[in-house]
Order: sequence, then C-alpha cells, then structure tokens
Amino acid sequence: MSDMKIAIMGAAGRMGRELARAVHATSGCVLAGGVERPGSAFLGQDIGEIAGVGNVGAAITDDALELFTSIDAILDFTTPDATVAFAGLAANARIVHVVGTTGFGPDHEAAIEAASRHATIIKAGNMSLGVNLLTALTRRVAEALDADFDIEIVEMHHRHKVDAPSGTALMLANAAAAGRGVELDTCSVRTRDGHTGPRRRGDIGMQSLRGGSVVGDHTVIFAGDGERIELTHIASDRSIFARGAVKAALWGRGRGPGLFAMSNVLGL
Ligand code: NAD
Repeated sequence: MSDMKIAIMGAAGRMGRELARAVHATSGCVLAGGVERPGSAFLGQDIGEIAGVGNVGAAITDDALELFTSIDAILDFTTPDATVAFAGLAANARIVHVVGTTGFGPDHEAAIEAASRHATIIKAGNMSLGVNLLTALTRRVAEALDADFDIEIVEMHHRHKVDAPSGTALMLANAAAAGRGVELDTCSVRTRDGHTGPRRRGDIGMQSLRGGSVVGDHTVIFAGDGERIELTHIASDRSIFARGAVKAALWGRGRGPGLFAMSNVLGL
C-alpha cells in the first residue's frame, strides 16, 4: 500500500507543529500539506520548515477544498468553528478526519456527527494512550463505588488555553457518569462560588486551573468518608497527543464512515 498522505489543519499552531513532526517521523505516512486561517503570516511557507524537520515541498495554504482532493487524511487541532467547516469538506472528499480540537458546543457536535455519516471521523478530547487508559480506569472505579464517594476532577493547563473545563476533563467526567449509569448533564458542577450549600450527593465536580506552560495535568478524585482514591495523569510533552493522532489516522484508513473514539483505535 502507498504511504498515507496526511495534512495538518492549524499547521502553525502549538499542536500543528507537533503533528507535522509526528507525521514526518512515522513510517507508512507522508506529510502532504497544511492549512492555516486566511490572513495567517504562515501561508505559503513550507510546513516542514515551520515544524523544524526541513523542507518537504508542501506549502501551507488557506484553500482546504483544493488540498483535500489530493490527500487521504487530515489531523485537525484548531477551533470548533474551523473543525465543523473542515468536517463538511472532508466528508465530501471522503478522507479520514482526526479531530483533536476541544471546546465544542451542542451545535458543533451535531454537525460533526452529521459529517460522520459520510466520512471516517476519529474524535477525542485527548489522544494520548495514558489518558485513554485513565478514562477506562475512571469508568471502572466509578462502577465499583457508589455515590458515597464524591467525584471531583481537577485539571491544570498552560495560560494560553481558551476553553474550560478541558476536553480531557469532560472525557473523564463522562466516563465517571457512564460508570455510575447517569447522564453527566444531570449531575455536573463546573463552578462553586459564594454560599453554595452542602455538596449534592452524586454530583460530579470539575475545576480548572490555568497558568505557566503546563501541558496538561488531570486528577480524578473519589472522596469517601475516611478515605480517598486519586487517579492522576501528567502530560509533560505534546508529542504524546500527536503520536496518538497519527495512529488514529492510520487506523482509519479503509474503514467505513462513522464517528470513532481513541478507545476504538487503542482497543480499550
Ligand atoms: P493554537 O492556538 O496554538 O493552534 C491552533 C491553530 O489553528 C492556530 O495556528 C490557528 O491559526 C489555526 N486556525 C484557527 N482557525 C483556523 C482555520 N479556520 N483554518 C485553519 N487554521 C486555523 O492551539 P493549540 O494549543 O495547538 O490547540 C488547538 C486545539 O487542540 C485546542 O482546541 C486544544 O484544546 C486542542 N488540544 C487537543 C489535544 C488532544 O489530545 N485532543 C491535545 C492538545 C490540544
């Protein structure tokens, strides 16, 4: 089989550069292009040069429609609105769409689900092996313990992050809710301020800290009477997300349409 041609959306972003390096370093795929927002100072520059791996002969463009006719997959860590636009174009072009973007609202989620009727979409708020394992463990622990154990999720990220709680915290909260057999919407608590009254039994809390250059820390706390379990993942290098995204694209090759998660890719 020929190498899978993969392009990077948001090619000049923090994750975009990491993704380009990961594709370049992986056998079985080739770095075939990059897209940036209209007006970006990086348009026309070689994506390999921007990522620090040397010239690969693929200039960053803002014309996704044209690029999508000549590639097999896109890795997309951009913004919710951009991802929805890419999902429509990728579905028309029948290419694999790996979505790492976070911060979606219900309308974005519905649009991505609609696009997945025609294309293979693999979407995860966190693409690392460790966090996906943590998600599976969280579900197991929540299944094993009843609501006498209060669940709180604490996350910390760098000062530039624009959405809260993190996509990973939401993944973990959904896993905890699924373990308990409840819908997260009915029990999620995202802010506490002033006279809140006592904690409601069964609530799942999420707290977000922001500062410095923290790549991503997540702790799921199960707090009971007289004992506490804490499950923690600490990401110290963005390459873990990029390697997961490349793995997802290769896994998606030749698969039929559908909306998949990293747990499918990793067989968890
Ligand atoms: P960033 O701001 O550094 O990069 C985003 C890039 O997207 C920028 O270069 C921006 O110009 C570009 N962009 C915006 N709109 C665009 C458009 N319409 N077309 C093309 N490019 C466009 O942000 P980042 O730290 O790289 O994070 C990006 C996203 O990835 C965030 O939602 C973040 O939460 C998420 N993220 C996910 C994971 C995961 O494993 N799923 C890991 C890290 C970050």
